[in-house]
Amino acid sequence: MAQLSPILKQATPVVVDHGEGAYLYDTSGRRHLDFTAGIGVTSTGHCHPKVVQAAQEQVGKLIHGQYTTVMHRPLLELSERLGEVLPSGLDSLFFANSGSEAVEAALRLARQATGRPNVVVFQGGFHGRTVAAASMTTSGTRFGAGISPLMAGVHVAPFPHAYHYGWDEKTATDFALRELDYLFATQTAPQETAAFFVEPMLGEGGYVPANSEFMAGLRRRADEHGILLVMDEIQTGFGRTGKFWGHEHFDVHPDVVLIAKGLASGFPLSGIAASRDLMGKAWPGSQGGTYGGNAVACAAALATLEVIREENLVDNAAARGRQLLDGARAVGDKTPGIGDVRGMGLLVGSEFVTADGAPDNATAQAVQKKAAEKGLLLLTCGAYMNVVRMIPPLVVTSEQIDEALDIWGEVVASVAR
Ligand code: PMP
Repeated sequence: MAQLSPILKQATPVVVDHGEGAYLYDTSGRRHLDFTAGIGVTSTGHCHPKVVQAAQEQVGKLIHGQYTTVMHRPLLELSERLGEVLPSGLDSLFFANSGSEAVEAALRLARQATGRPNVVVFQGGFHGRTVAAASMTTSGTRFGAGISPLMAGVHVAPFPHAYHYGWDEKTATDFALRELDYLFATQTAPQETAAFFVEPMLGEGGYVPANSEFMAGLRRRADEHGILLVMDEIQTGFGRTGKFWGHEHFDVHPDVVLIAKGLASGFPLSGIAASRDLMGKAWPGSQGGTYGGNAVACAAALATLEVIREENLVDNAAARGRQLLDGARAVGDKTPGIGDVRGMGLLVGSEFVTADGAPDNATAQAVQKKAAEKGLLLLTCGAYMNVVRMIPPLVVTSEQIDEALDIWGEVVASVAR
């Protein structure tokens, strides 16, 4: 009998039978409060009836209309609808399946459109696991270990991770921008730099929000040197941060936005958005793929957008996010072993540290495991995997946040210092 490869490492032992809203039900019938949402994917909750209905109807009409062969209605409609929510001027879309593919698509676009070879990424950023995306990932050596040589042409500048540096936000931001200028002087000349790839908040890198001054600094340098500002909204998009896009918190206008995860409520669908002018600079026909823009995934994405609007999920993410952050901070305040609690909207991380302030991976893992035993599913992140993160669906209720915080408080008190 064949088995799943140990290449896959699972965070919990749960074998799911079905999901509904914020809950997963395992094969023994036990209910779990899912504050992982499939790593920030099932924003409308598991199996939202409208998403299910849209997908079921589409399955009966057309499952796969290969998009370099024929065009289909869900893809055309989705492009139109996304135009209503994307930043102004980003009116041209290309679709793929995974976040990593969107990152690679943007890399191709940036290199072809500018004719420049290099990109700058920011320390702690995560952009995916395919080799180019892994080459641009610095949230942990584990993502690139053992697969070298990685892609050349990637340069890494600091992210304003104030807690990590032990500085205030302003000092960390000044440092990050100064080092970026130094990088231009020492590693990749601006005229050889095609793009900045940045997340509005480090996701896998430990749930660290950027800030307006940092983003303004990137925008200024991008404008000055003709560098593209590529915003990786794969984890932060579609209302997750309490605004539709994570970068809206920082009042910055990107040249390219990367989308995936929350876009289609669990169907594999990703994309990149840019201006028609910029997309027109890529080589025509240079991108494609067998499955990109799958008809069922697009129908699910259309339903997802409708649900986000009808149920005011962006506002709910903001309100429930505040409740979650406040509650997690209250637990953090009375726990010396939690050094920092931070986040935006429904992305909240608690960083575990030892008495001397070093990353405490063991306690974070123990807390995550114990929470799962008590019916609360969580994930860890950060370079040292010492940040426990909460990513409930956007449909989460106030009662479910309280339920999670009760378990969290109890588990932290029993496991951490
Ligand atoms: N970018 C960001 C910001 C992500 O969070 C992720 C996935 N966690 C990716 C890219 C890669 O997406 P995928 O796993 O779908 O390839």
